[in-house]
Amino acid sequence: MTIYCIGRNYAEHARELNNPVPTEPIIFSKPATAALRENKAFYLPDFSQNVHYEVEVLLKVGKPGRRISEDKALEHISHIGLGIDFTARDIQDRCKAKGHPWEIAKAFDHSAVIGDWISREELPAGSIRFSLLKNKQTVQQGDTDDLIFPFERLISVISGYFTLMLGDIIFTGTPEGVGQVHEGDLLEGYIGERRMFWTEVR
Ligand code: ZN
Repeated sequence: MTIYCIGRNYAEHARELNNPVPTEPIIFSKPATAALRENKAFYLPDFSQNVHYEVEVLLKVGKPGRRISEDKALEHISHIGLGIDFTARDIQDRCKAKGHPWEIAKAFDHSAVIGDWISREELPAGSIRFSLLKNKQTVQQGDTDDLIFPFERLISVISGYFTLMLGDIIFTGTPEGVGQVHEGDLLEGYIGERRMFWTEVR
């Protein structure tokens, strides 16, 4: 299982980190060892002093494919979910400044929280509204209507480079409001009123 992630897919988030709004999806990946499931605790890694949460809508691949066209793209998605793309922001900033890949800031063990899944048919029509609560306060709110690149485009572009396999997961980007996590924080992700995951930071 591979996790594909999209950087800067909400304009307000690109701006909050002083990044230009992209004209093509920015793709990176995390290995299967990055997954953190079943609401397990997240342990702050010792190599970073500034780990950020990024709440994101997830797509689960239910049918493999490569070079998928946009009009067929959603047929390849079986489930929608919610998760966190934990990011060692200090390391990412250093990597970016040197023009290096940011793998170590993004793809480390347990950096990808994966919550419950909703089958695509079960999901009400229209955009997906989602949020992240930190210690019961809302810190991020998103609406997939605000995606720069919609799901169909992401699936089409990713599968142009990488064969999508059954069970692969796509993190579709985070809205504005990212911030640092601290020991003792409780993070809870919601789609609408439904709690999709929680994790305690240790
Ligand atoms: Zn992200």
